[in-house]
Amino acid sequence: AGTGAEGRGRPASESTLTIGLLLPEVLGTYGDTGNAWILRERARRRGIDARILTIDLDTPIPSSLDLYTMGGGEDTAQALAAEKFDREPGLRRAVEAGRPLLAICASLQVLGHWYRDARGQRVAGLGVLDVTTDPQGRRTIGELASDPLIEGLTERLTGFENHGGGTVLGPDAAPLGRVVAGTGNGVPQGAPAPEAPCDGVVQGPIIATYMHGPALARNPQLADLLLARAIGRDPASLAPLDVPGVPALRAERLRAGSGVRG
Ligand code: GLN
Repeated sequence: AGTGAEGRGRPASESTLTIGLLLPEVLGTYGDTGNAWILRERARRRGIDARILTIDLDTPIPSSLDLYTMGGGEDTAQALAAEKFDREPGLRRAVEAGRPLLAICASLQVLGHWYRDARGQRVAGLGVLDVTTDPQGRRTIGELASDPLIEGLTERLTGFENHGGGTVLGPDAAPLGRVVAGTGNGVPQGAPAPEAPCDGVVQGPIIATYMHGPALARNPQLADLLLARAIGRDPASLAPLDVPGVPALRAERLRAGSGVRG
C-alpha cells in the first residue's frame, strides 16, 4: 500500500474530493477498504472528481481531507492503529474540524475512550466517541440489520458483523440504528441487556457501525449521506444513481439476515 498510489495518475486539483483511506493494512478486514472505492465511484458518477489517498502506518495523517474511512481489524492490528491515533494529532484535528468519517467495528472501538480486548487488555482510544467497549464473552458473527435512527436515512441498513467486543454508549453518543437482526453494539459480559438493541454510533461528523460488507456497497443511502456531507450539499440534491446489482444484493442480504439474532 503506497501513500497516494491511487491518485498518482490523476493529479489532484483544488476541486478534487479526497477520500482518506486510513491504515488499510491494520483496519481493513472483510472488504472494508471497499467503502472508499464506493464513495469515489458514487462521486465520479455524479461528475465529481474524486480520489483515494491511502494513509498507511508510516504516513502522518493529514487533517484536511474531505472524507475519511476506516475499517475493522483483529485485536493486535487494531492496537497498532490505536497507538498511532494517540501519538499523532491528525485524526483528532480532522474530527474537530468536522470532516465526515466512517468507522467500522474495530475503528468504532478505537475512536472511543478505551476498549478491552479479548485477553482483557485495556487499550486507550482517541476519545472522540463517547463509548467504551468490553468483551461480550463470545463472538457475535452473522448478518446484522437495523432501522436507521438518524436524519437523512430511511432505508434499512445491512451488513456482516464479527466482533468480540460489546460497546456501551455515553450521553454524547447516539446510536445509528435499531437492530432488527443480529447483535450490533452488543452487551459487555455481565451487563444488563438493553431493551432495544442498537447498532453503531453517531457523534459530530463520525458515523460508526459494526457493519462490514463493505457497508457502503450494501447501503448506498449511507454512502450518499457521507458524500453529501463531504461536499456540503443536501443528499437529496445528488442525482439518483442506478447501480445494477445493488437492489438484488440488498434483497439477498436482508433475506439472509431475517430472523437471525447473533
Ligand atoms: N477486534 C475487535 C473485536 O473482536 C474488532 C473486530 C472487527 O473489527 N471485526 O471486537
